Amino acid sequence: MKKYKTSLHWFRRDLRLVDNAGLWNAQQMSEQVVPVYVLSDWKKKHDWTGPNRQAFLCGNLQSLAKNLEAIGSRLVLRCGSAERELEKLLKETKAEALFVNRDPDPFGKEVEGKVKEVCERMGVAFHSFKDAVLHEADEVVKGDGSAYRVYTPYSKVWLGLAKPEPLPRVKSLGNAVGDNVKSEALPTLAHWGLEESGAELPEAGERAARERMKNFVGSRRLPEYAEKRNVPFGMHSSGLSPDLRYGLIGIRELYARCRKKAEEMSTGERKGVETYVKELGWREFYMAVLHFWPEVLETDFNPEFRNVRWDSDEALFEAWKAGMTGFPMVDAGMRQLLATGWMHNRLRMIVAMFLTKDLHCHWRLGESFFMQQLIDGEIASNNGGWQWSAGTGADAAPYFRIQNPWLQGKRFDPDGMYIKKWIPELKDVPVERLHEPAKLRLAKDYPLPIVDHHAERDKTLERFKQGKEKR
Ligand SMILES: Cc1cc2nc3c(=O)[nH]c(=O)nc-3n(C[C@H](O)[C@H](O)[C@H](O)COP(=O)(O)OP(=O)(O)OC[C@H]3O[C@@H](n4cnc5c(N)ncnc54)[C@H](O)[C@@H]3O)c2cc1C
Repeated sequence: MKKYKTSLHWFRRDLRLVDNAGLWNAQQMSEQVVPVYVLSDWKKKHDWTGPNRQAFLCGNLQSLAKNLEAIGSRLVLRCGSAERELEKLLKETKAEALFVNRDPDPFGKEVEGKVKEVCERMGVAFHSFKDAVLHEADEVVKGDGSAYRVYTPYSKVWLGLAKPEPLPRVKSLGNAVGDNVKSEALPTLAHWGLEESGAELPEAGERAARERMKNFVGSRRLPEYAEKRNVPFGMHSSGLSPDLRYGLIGIRELYARCRKKAEEMSTGERKGVETYVKELGWREFYMAVLHFWPEVLETDFNPEFRNVRWDSDEALFEAWKAGMTGFPMVDAGMRQLLATGWMHNRLRMIVAMFLTKDLHCHWRLGESFFMQQLIDGEIASNNGGWQWSAGTGADAAPYFRIQNPWLQGKRFDPDGMYIKKWIPELKDVPVERLHEPAKLRLAKDYPLPIVDHHAERDKTLERFKQGKEKR
């Protein structure tokens, strides 16, 4: 005998049927489950998202709707404020319980709190689950209960904790969604008044994401990850960040598959898995930082640097956004982002450090632009990455260790393959000219370097010094 006759499962960043804690528990405890997603109703412009991620979301919802149909159910779409829409749906369906997976970011948590209040007021049971992470912020704390500011001790505890096992695919949700339960149509970009960006995005949906996961775990990329993950030309990392962002794959299943694969590997190859798992730990570290210090969305994590002067020059910022700075490695990264909605991690560090340390633009400008472009746009990792690069964050790059974009190019793209792929106008330029400041234009439509790295580096050091003194 199941506990509830009818329940709702509120989908958010968990758009899948396999290894989904909230959905699994909903169907275990209920005779029938109404699956629902609430669309946001902003129009035209949003500082934290844009056409790429919204288009990926549309594809993911289409796929989810199809997968639910295949098990005899129907995705209900509503639009507007989640607490109001869910309250209406709870009444319409006479549901006795609401199931949801917890969102690690502050905006998601705030809405969750409001929905919980609605449920309490209506006498509806509210069940929330850990799902987006292996370990939530309050599971990985010091002995005295305080949070870690530095990754290495955090990761020691994180790695040592027993990991949750993956859950099976949900095979039926009963017959709760009758014809009388109304739904909005599946959204397109027009829903938010957006136009396509023209970027070439990965195939959306749970099936495609599972293929990507199986390909990564089953290929040489996993055992070679430690050695090759910093090479931006070709695909040497997992490329699974958008799938984790939308929960198209479960983190428990990804982790379990990696560990299982490691059993078949030599000691040397296992290093690839260890390094990869530690990167998953960085994702949860930044989520924990955001949980304990939500103010990082407004200000520098490190108070020492809150008085540093930034210029935020419009023309320089525009050149950076367009991939037209005259620094080929920086421009190649930005062009990859514009063309695909994704950028290799090494390049994210290079372009972020360049924007903040060479162009003196505030990291918040870059943070927002990334969120508008990235299909894996994740508030915690993005803020963490930007503050790391600016030197102001938790466990950040020391502010005086300013990467030289010319040397970064030479080191990580020695034969210029990555640069030539993303900046076609440079395809015939001899490689040695790509990694040093050009005195003459490298190509007709390609600019000379817009700043002198050494001069800007000195300015940055001075500004950080002055900022510290002003405290
Ligand atoms: C300025 C800046 C902004 C960033 N913005 C985002 C963002 O919005 N969303 C996002 O998911 N990642 C972000 N990152 C982290 C990292 O660049 C991406 O996670 C990674 O490039 C995704 O590619 P992948 O899946 O092939 O990574 P892999 O190398 O295969 O790594 C495995 C997984 O570990 C996690 N991960 C890896 N590196 C990091 C990291 N430094 N911080 C947090 N998690 C990490 C990701 O979930 C990733 O999928 C940012 C980094 C920087 C420097």
